[in-house]
Formats: sequence, structure tokens, C-alpha cells
Amino acid sequence: MRRDRRPITRPRRALLELIERSPKPLGPRELHRELRRAGVRIDRVSVYRNVAALLELGLLHRVLGSTAVRPCVERAQKCHHAIVCTACGSAREFHSVALEKALGDVRRSTRYRVLGHLLELRGLCESCR
Ligand SMILES: [Zn+2]
Ligand SMILES: [Zn+2]
Ligand SMILES: [Zn+2]
Repeated sequence: MRRDRRPITRPRRALLELIERSPKPLGPRELHRELRRAGVRIDRVSVYRNVAALLELGLLHRVLGSTAVRPCVERAQKCHHAIVCTACGSAREFHSVALEKALGDVRRSTRYRVLGHLLELRGLCESCR
């Protein structure tokens, strides 16, 4: 679902691969450190800029209330909700038809013109429980 037709630059690809491989969401500071460690020549400003571009392209999502980002795994879906482990930080994306229907009910009953919603569940993953 990439709208951008320009070729993805090497540092940007390395950044995206790092985020996709990471078991938990990482912030720009950690991303920069990991990229440098892997031998990718990139400065902090470029990390921020590339993260912003990848968010814009819908390839990443930000963990609510933090600077950490996670990869989008359900690109075909319109909604991208996450469940995040508060102990190890691992996150996964989920989609629920029933949930979207319930939100539709809320929209109708409040009579708001809803433009979107953000939803993230917090809890303990299977290995942290
Ligand atoms: Zn997503
Ligand atoms: Zn949704
Ligand atoms: Zn966990």
C-alpha cells in the first residue's frame, strides 16, 4: 500500500528491517544506536526523518504515548490496533470486525462525525504472565 513510488534508500530499508526484526517497539534513540552498531552510516536527524516518512507511508505505527514505533503487519486492513505487553514491550497488531461494529454503534448514538480512532490494549504477553 505504498503511495510513494520513489525507491526506498538503503538507510531507510535498513531502518525498516531493524524495526521489523525487533521483538519490541524501539524509539529513535535506540534505532539510531542499533543502526550504527550494524554499520549503517546515518545521523540522528535522518533517523527521525525516515521514521516520520515510514509512519506517513503507513509502514509503521507509533505506540500510543511513546516515541517507539512498531511495524504494520496487517497492511490490507483499515484499522491498526495493537496489544502491548507492559513487561517486555512486545506488541502485536490485531483487527476485529466485532469491535469496529461496536464503534459504529458509539458513533451513531453520540451523533458525532467520527474521523478516526486510536486503540491500544495493554497487558502481559504469554511469556511474561
Ligand atoms: Zn498496521
Ligand atoms: Zn478500528
Ligand atoms: Zn511480555
